[in-house]
Amino acid sequence: MSMNQQGRPTNAGKTTDSSASESALLPSEPLLFEIGSKDHTGVDLPDVKPFNHRLGAFKRTTPLELPGLSEPETMRHYVRLSRLNYSIDSGLYPLGSCTMKHNPRLNEKMARLPGFSQIHPLQPVSTVGGAIEALSELARWLMKLTRTSAVAMSPKAGAHGELCGMMAIRAAHLEKGEGNRSIVLVPESAHGTNPATAAFLGYKVKAIPAKADGTVDISAVEDALSPDVAAIMLTNPNTCGLFEPDVKKIADAIHAAGAYFYCDGANFNAIMGVVCPGDLGIDAMHINLHKTFSTPHGGGGPGAGPVVLSKALAPFTPVPFIRETASGSELVEHVGESKSFGRLTAFHGQMGMFTRALTYMLSHGGDGLAQAAKDAVLNANYLKARLSELFSMPYGEQFCMHEVLCDDDFLKGTGVTTLDFSKAMIDEGYHPMTMYFPLVVHGAMLIEPTESESLKELDRFADTMLELARAAHAGEVERFTSAPTKAPLRRLDETGAARNPKLKWTKE
Ligand SMILES: *Cc1c(COP(=O)(O)O)cnc(C)c1O
Repeated sequence: MSMNQQGRPTNAGKTTDSSASESALLPSEPLLFEIGSKDHTGVDLPDVKPFNHRLGAFKRTTPLELPGLSEPETMRHYVRLSRLNYSIDSGLYPLGSCTMKHNPRLNEKMARLPGFSQIHPLQPVSTVGGAIEALSELARWLMKLTRTSAVAMSPKAGAHGELCGMMAIRAAHLEKGEGNRSIVLVPESAHGTNPATAAFLGYKVKAIPAKADGTVDISAVEDALSPDVAAIMLTNPNTCGLFEPDVKKIADAIHAAGAYFYCDGANFNAIMGVVCPGDLGIDAMHINLHKTFSTPHGGGGPGAGPVVLSKALAPFTPVPFIRETASGSELVEHVGESKSFGRLTAFHGQMGMFTRALTYMLSHGGDGLAQAAKDAVLNANYLKARLSELFSMPYGEQFCMHEVLCDDDFLKGTGVTTLDFSKAMIDEGYHPMTMYFPLVVHGAMLIEPTESESLKELDRFADTMLELARAAHAGEVERFTSAPTKAPLRRLDETGAARNPKLKWTKE
């Protein structure tokens, strides 16, 4: 197998790849630049008549060097790439904390309606009334599901939503003349984006330890509180898959100390329609529409992370926001006299994701959303019960919420690590679960089946996982350490790729 300059295996100039054909998988696909030609295009265009351009010194003087491909060549390139991909449309995708659920095709149909898909953010507001109404309807659902007072729709992902919520918190402290509050409390089990967000805004992060049962230690929170604390960033249900039993007491303690409660809402799928976070005392929470509300994600595709805000933070909502007036929904684009902390993104947010999420809500109804959450929790507990036969679970004596957390204790002495185990899952046709997160658990395996899976699929998955665990115990180390053998690519140098990314194609 030859390598291109980016270090990817390439078959340019070859028709088959022996290692790939042995496993009946596709050979890896060359880049467009390697299969295309610079002298041809895929379309016939008439020659352009001479014209006066207004580019001045910006006129290009060198050829653009885009690869030219015919439509079938282009089509095949992308279809082949798509077949190298694992997706929720091809099988169970147990990536914990990521809520890889089915995206109903009705969502796609609605998102493609021209009134939503063919509009431009700079169009006059009077021409996009329908889209604004859909946006306000989604905003109303989000506020109702969380029992909160306002929602900022523009953040583009969960982490961006964290930034938005924390900026609202900072604005609220500044307004009260308490800009000196410099500490944010973050439990040790938090997603990495939480401390990163706090640090990005210049806060000092103070870690809060967990108790032996995996939940936050309220006495550690109380001990850490001081007039310097701006907020706590807490995930509920937490990243160990457990509902925080002291969440209300923690909220009360935080508020009594003059700080705010940021809730990481990435795990909302476990409680939507069942528990209203507003009732638990949260002040700000992002909702990953691309997790809980089924809009597709993975591969860096568009996400959407609206942030709901409590009454105390509502005045600081970033523009643009939608205000309900007697004559309908009004889009507020400028800060004006309001206390809004400003603008977070150029435009209004991800319309395609909004349409999909709203479609998901309207087609499920309030009762259907609650049912989906309950089914997600039931599925996770079913898997937990089946896997507990051989897998070790650090907090196994309690029911879990929508995800099951295992550690690597059951692999002790086998010579197989969590990483090896997950690679062997690829050979069995499954995407691995989330590994080594949360950090508080050794060799963590976080498994989230979501409500999308049937009993049959759950059983098939559990059978495979138990068979792998038996193989590890039976000393079949090689099966794990050499895995994956059936994937188009073997073990990748992920650290090298992260430390030294090659993001640009360079001509050979
Ligand atoms: C996914 C996730 C985030 C970040 O969300 P993005 O949309 O990926 O930015 C934050 N916290 C938790 C617990 C998550 O699972």
